Amino acid sequence: MLIDTYGRVAKDLRVSLTDRCNLRCTYCMPEEGLRWLAKPDLLTDDEIVRLIDIAVTALGIEEVRFTGGEPLLRPGLVGIVERAAALRPRPLISLTTNGIGLKRTASALKAAGLDRVNVSLDTLRADVFKTLTRRDRHKDVIEGLVAAREAGLTPVKVNSVLMPGLNEDEAPDLLAWAVEHDYELRLIEQMPLDAQHGWKRDGMITAGNILASLRTRFALTAEGEEIRGSAPAARWLVDGGPHRVGVIASVTRPFCSACDRTRLTADGQVRTCLFAREETDLRAALRAGAPDEEVARIWRLAMWGKKAGAGLDDPAFVQPDRPMSAIGG
Ligand code: SAM
Ligand code: SF4
Repeated sequence: MLIDTYGRVAKDLRVSLTDRCNLRCTYCMPEEGLRWLAKPDLLTDDEIVRLIDIAVTALGIEEVRFTGGEPLLRPGLVGIVERAAALRPRPLISLTTNGIGLKRTASALKAAGLDRVNVSLDTLRADVFKTLTRRDRHKDVIEGLVAAREAGLTPVKVNSVLMPGLNEDEAPDLLAWAVEHDYELRLIEQMPLDAQHGWKRDGMITAGNILASLRTRFALTAEGEEIRGSAPAARWLVDGGPHRVGVIASVTRPFCSACDRTRLTADGQVRTCLFAREETDLRAALRAGAPDEEVARIWRLAMWGKKAGAGLDDPAFVQPDRPMSAIGG
């Protein structure tokens, strides 16, 4: 298994399939985009499937989440999902996406073996969406969400980041809408992972702000820590249930001590944490012809070096060089 010196065991693998994206969310990417990874540097579909195979058969990974950049931009996505679903033990397979194009692909992804989807949508207002993402695609995301629910990729979760001066007042509206449409809303604190390094601790919308805002309209009952487990979202029952809302307080209430993640970038680097400054090159090992046991050994060693926490509140904290879109959120 993948275990670190603090006794944490990684069971959840996040695989970034591309660093490219068709949106430019202000908290993630600059308007002009980024220098994308060159095609030869990306893991091939075969390399990705081989690494997932090693992760589930030799390293105890139980859940695989595909992300990016925008994973729906990866041409081989459906095939990769299908091959991951054929592995034994079969991992739970999920996807984090901005939802653009999901209308077209949701049922093929479900048929290929995708279990669940998280769709990112920060606002119900098309004009605010355009300001936040710098693209006029609000309608496509809403259609993608409907398609995901109809395809049975449930529970469909909606990820929202609240930004000061833009959508900070929208938490109650988003929750009312999510309850009405049977989506599970997860409100996420903005993290220092934007390529522009524009994040500021002062002024960010905290979990405390979010909960206070939700409580103006809903009664929230906390679910216990035992239910939260290693899940990053503290979950709350809305008006007695059955609907829930998650609040992901990565900055003000980090959950590093319960973290069960390991991450693979689109160019084959293992990262033990979103905020890690170190990476371990599995692509080089694969391309040098290393057998599975050797790749697994390198991955275990990387995990062994996982730091206790992200250190966001440490004055010495330095933002990682790679932005969120190139790590895989
Ligand atoms: N493009 C896909 C999407 O947006 O869902 C997948 C990749 S995106 C990096 C994954 C998640 O990270 C999204 O829900 C997005 O809102 C979130 N995210 C991106 N930058 C963030 C930041 N600086 N702080 C908090 N969440 C962020
Ligand atoms: Fe693209 Fe997702 Fe980053 Fe937005 S958050 S720019 S959709 S990768």
